Amino acid sequence: MSVKRQVLSKNEISLRMSKLYELLTIAEDAHDILGYPPTTDFNFVYVKKKTEELSEYDLIKEGNAPYDYRQLYEKIKELYMEFLIKVMSNYADETMRTQIEYINFVLKSGEYVIFEGDIDKVTMPMPSGIASVHTHPGICIFSAPDIETADSLFVKGYVIIAVMNNECISYFLRKGPYTPEDQQELRKLQKKVKKAKTFEELKDGYTSFNSENVVFRTPLFS
Ligand SMILES: [Zn+2]
Repeated sequence: MSVKRQVLSKNEISLRMSKLYELLTIAEDAHDILGYPPTTDFNFVYVKKKTEELSEYDLIKEGNAPYDYRQLYEKIKELYMEFLIKVMSNYADETMRTQIEYINFVLKSGEYVIFEGDIDKVTMPMPSGIASVHTHPGICIFSAPDIETADSLFVKGYVIIAVMNNECISYFLRKGPYTPEDQQELRKLQKKVKKAKTFEELKDGYTSFNSENVVFRTPLFS
């Protein structure tokens, strides 16, 4: 294990992410139990009728709100982009200068942590959480080992996993429950990235990524 400097903190954005993640988790459960998607006003989750199984959830109300709960995935992503610009930009600059990478996790509690890794890589046990990024000194795209890490983080319930440098951010975003099919698709991509020798091959691998509940977005291949 080669993790050095640590930051443990929280801010308005990470706390809001935590609140929305709680709503999302509850809504995913309710969707599973009821068979239809609940709605949300981003403060509560709404269902047509609160059944016995849902009686323990204080954040579930009866009624109808303006948004499908699956908007919460995008909402969390938007907040995380704000967080990255506000909190992680300085680290991305430092990575460009020193080659030392940093990794951030926003935890379910709303706290966030930042760890310093080795030059060119960050290796550590991953906590369970909501969102993660690590900084790259080069291209803002996931390496084959980064994709493996993304897989294990989605298994832990993460919503968004990103890589960034001082100019761009790429990410995988979950849009539903992470399924074995999504995992297979991610592993297929991992193999293609591992084999890719040129930028074109890398681009082909990423642009053919097509998963039901996970999307990949980057400003690089547009
Ligand atoms: Zn990486």
